[in-house]
Amino acid sequence: MPSDAAPLRADFTLPPLPPGVRRILIFVAMEAEAEPIARALGLAPDRLPIGSAGVRSGRVGSNLSSLEVSLLSPGICAETGVDRIGPVHAAATLARALERIPCDIVVNAGTAGGFESQGQRIADLVVARDTMFHDARIALGGFDAVARAHTRLSADDAMLARLSAALDARAGLVSTGASLDATADELALFARHGALAKEMELAALGVVCREHRRPLVALKGITDLVDHHEPTHEAFVRNLARTSARVAEAIGPLLDELVNDQTRD
Ligand code: SAH
Repeated sequence: MPSDAAPLRADFTLPPLPPGVRRILIFVAMEAEAEPIARALGLAPDRLPIGSAGVRSGRVGSNLSSLEVSLLSPGICAETGVDRIGPVHAAATLARALERIPCDIVVNAGTAGGFESQGQRIADLVVARDTMFHDARIALGGFDAVARAHTRLSADDAMLARLSAALDARAGLVSTGASLDATADELALFARHGALAKEMELAALGVVCREHRRPLVALKGITDLVDHHEPTHEAFVRNLARTSARVAEAIGPLLDELVNDQTRD
């Protein structure tokens, strides 16, 4: 398996994980991703009105009885009947939800493209170390960094190692863009930065969490291999249910690690 490239230093950082976590807000982009997580955690629909967003909530786990979990998704577009995926809906939905739902940590769970050249396979898991917009190209100093929004997430190296071990995941760069496919330039950028996942929401959630001073952790399951000859959308559709189930299985153990971090209590 290729070694992970030396991480490029992020321009922005998010707050560290706090001790005594009691309230967690989980953001997922698609209903097909939300449903298995709601089932795994035993969450029920919540009537909290946040535009067209869906909220499910509940108290989670016998040994985590005081943990309040809200699962947020942008919901279905009334005009087209499909999930409101992508960075803009993600940012707008999370920003509205943070005004209404108290939480100590935001967790983003979902699917992503992975890389055959990194030795990844369908349904592998990736914990995000950092995120950025890979399709933000501005040849003007400062503006470039603002638009790319390269952000170190809240899990420090020790927590990333614990999460990787507990979930059988790898930790690394999760890169965000508004497209499901990838251009040749973007493929070169992923290789240069050793990206482990490519998806459509995380960097946008990072910007919102920075503005709202909220810690952010992310877990992605691989539905397709970006550098494989099979068209991304075909692999995505075929593997969506299997990979979403794998992510949902890992959510309980992920929350356990975030809540039971004795080194911070
Ligand atoms: N065409 C799909 C729509 C989902 S688009 C459908 O038929 O349902 C992809 C969604 O999964 C986004 O929320 C994104 O975050 C994630 N995703 C999975 N693989 C991806 C990839 N290779 N590139 C970008 N996003 C990907």
